[in-house]
Amino acid sequence: MSNQEKYQFRVPLCTPNLQGNEEKYVVDCIRSNWITSVGSYIERFENSVRDFTGSKYAVSVANGTAALHLALQIVGVQVGDYVFVPNITFVASCNAVTYLGAEPILVDICPQTWQINEKIIINFLEKSCTLKNKVCIHNQTGRRVSAIMPVHTLGNMCQMDSIMAISKKYNLMVVEDAAEALGARQKNMENTHHAGTIGHIGVLSFNGNKMITTGGGGMLLTNNEVFAQKARHLSRQAKTGIFEYSHNEIGYNYPLLNILAAVGLAQMEQLGNFLKRKKEIDTFYREEFKNNKNIDFQVVRQNTTANNWLFTATFNNKEEIIKILAEKQIQVRPFWQPMNKQVMFKNNIYLKTIDSQGIPKDFSNEIYQKTLSLPCGTQITQENLQEIVDLINKI
Ligand SMILES: *Cc1c(COP(=O)(O)O)cnc(C)c1O
Repeated sequence: MSNQEKYQFRVPLCTPNLQGNEEKYVVDCIRSNWITSVGSYIERFENSVRDFTGSKYAVSVANGTAALHLALQIVGVQVGDYVFVPNITFVASCNAVTYLGAEPILVDICPQTWQINEKIIINFLEKSCTLKNKVCIHNQTGRRVSAIMPVHTLGNMCQMDSIMAISKKYNLMVVEDAAEALGARQKNMENTHHAGTIGHIGVLSFNGNKMITTGGGGMLLTNNEVFAQKARHLSRQAKTGIFEYSHNEIGYNYPLLNILAAVGLAQMEQLGNFLKRKKEIDTFYREEFKNNKNIDFQVVRQNTTANNWLFTATFNNKEEIIKILAEKQIQVRPFWQPMNKQVMFKNNIYLKTIDSQGIPKDFSNEIYQKTLSLPCGTQITQENLQEIVDLINKI
């Protein structure tokens, strides 16, 4: 048992906030008997996310991982393909690639933003791949490179303009893993683009600890009508008959249930308040820690707005902090272990950063070693926040 699990947390990391119309809408589902894969809340929830993000289409599914699986299949990822994925992400990003028999190429992160470093992708494509009849081929293996999966880690935006330029030049599809990034956005001139609406398909998660939750749930965002139809079709067993049970391809049982969409709709009504509160918490931590030499922050690039989903920083004295906060029953969490350290992906291609002297650098592992996430639920009290920063600054 880890140090943390021994305690029941007095201050949890981040808990769902269900103080809006969640109960009312769920009761409505139960009383009307519309609890399963058909019902009006599904469309209302999808429309609410669609309108908020400015996506043309939004298709809800059972969870974020299922959404990634569908998205990759729909953009055409096939058995044997390579797909670029950041070395620091939640394992679901890489798992979804392997569901299709494709293989992730792991890419190191930028040490400032902690997001996939697109310069490494460009370098690899220029040096190790060839475009033949508009198909990007990896020279050494002859395998196709078919897609990039940028992950907006911790709700901070990736460098999407560069990634879309690479996509165009090398004919690669882009599936944005925006699981954590609902509400994050970038500005190009006068236009705002939300995370998940810039690539060919974007994916959101509504797992318990995400920006909004449906208990479990996910959504595909796209501006492509064919992709949207395909997502709905595949997520519902690819049924073609209205009355008859006829199907035209292998489908999945991936719908989001109406009773969960009801929770999602109530969550969307509160999203504006959640984003505001998350921003306050992030600002508080950054302000209180700004003179602490042991702490560094994730950099948010110009013209982008992070959703401040989960406050995470690097700490030189991480082990001490874990111990001291655990004693006070305050929950903290490490960052994800890098993908190249997981048994399933340890033999995958891992593209490290090459510094100006030509020396390989492994920023994923450097950052991972030092990061911790601190409590930042929307319901956390000011006293708890103050207590946490005082404990850490005293070390
Ligand atoms: C949560 C998460 C997922 C998976 O979403 P689920 O709804 O839990 O299946 C995928 N990618 C990232 C980056 C995530 O944080």
